[in-house]
Amino acid sequence: MTYDFSGKNAVVTGASRGIGEAIARTLAEGGARVCLVARSADALEKLAKSLPNDPVVIRADLASSDGWKPTAEAIVEQLGPVDILVNNAGVSNREPAGEVTEDGLDLTLSVNVRNLILLTNALSDSLKSRRGNVVNISSISAFSGSIGQIAYAASKGAVNSMTRNMSIDLGRSGVRVNAIAPGVIDDGMWKTAFDAGLDREKTMSRMAKLIPLEGRWGSAQNIADAVAFLASDKANYVTGQVLRVDGGMIA
Ligand code: NAP
Repeated sequence: MTYDFSGKNAVVTGASRGIGEAIARTLAEGGARVCLVARSADALEKLAKSLPNDPVVIRADLASSDGWKPTAEAIVEQLGPVDILVNNAGVSNREPAGEVTEDGLDLTLSVNVRNLILLTNALSDSLKSRRGNVVNISSISAFSGSIGQIAYAASKGAVNSMTRNMSIDLGRSGVRVNAIAPGVIDDGMWKTAFDAGLDREKTMSRMAKLIPLEGRWGSAQNIADAVAFLASDKANYVTGQVLRVDGGMIA
């Protein structure tokens, strides 16, 4: 099913690869004018060239404590009012108990939580002016732990809590706020790990045992399709939800 996003302005953070790239492509193909945000300018420019509806590219570092500020200003200036904000940028660093570092924790919380909240906050008047909506990309790590994911799991738990609370604050202005918690996706962070030498076959078959739905890993497009639903008018009575797209892993 395709959704009609004609005339909508959509922001996708972390659009330079993986899940964010698939989300940006899906929204653009549905008719939205997309604003692509990340640090890798070359990757964003390359993606922009392949998309319809005159996309906007904004190079931003959402690890710095005030990264949200120039990003929000550039979005309002270059894209205009925001109908759809997809907070997808995220980092995961493996630091098991006893080895959690201040730098690792600060980076994870800064990208996954601090800038996500402050960017959404800064764009809330814009979202209100369009009765727009927000989709945050969380993770099943918020529901179920795995080795070394202490900071990441905590950050995604915060994303879920923020989603519920922001939906209450913005609901009276007609702005919906939802989240998607992906399971294991054969792209993005996992692709980077496989490219760096992690044994793809062994990892995939080990994780497959935990996935009720045919032992199947998800695709970036599975997540993009769920984002498209939540961002569309078809979901106009859905807010404050965290939708797990995980092949039943947490079921
Ligand atoms: P990915 O391939 O590593 O992509 C992460 C994106 O975030 C990139 O576009 C990256 O762009 C951007 N980003 C990272 N640090 C940034 C920073 N300091 N400033 C601005 N942008 C930054 O990961 P992915 O797998 O597609 O993940 C996307 C989202 O899905 C994340 O929130 C992740 O937690 C979530 N998720 C993924 C999976 C999975 O299995 N892949 C599962 C559950 C949840 P630059 O490097 O160009 O800045």
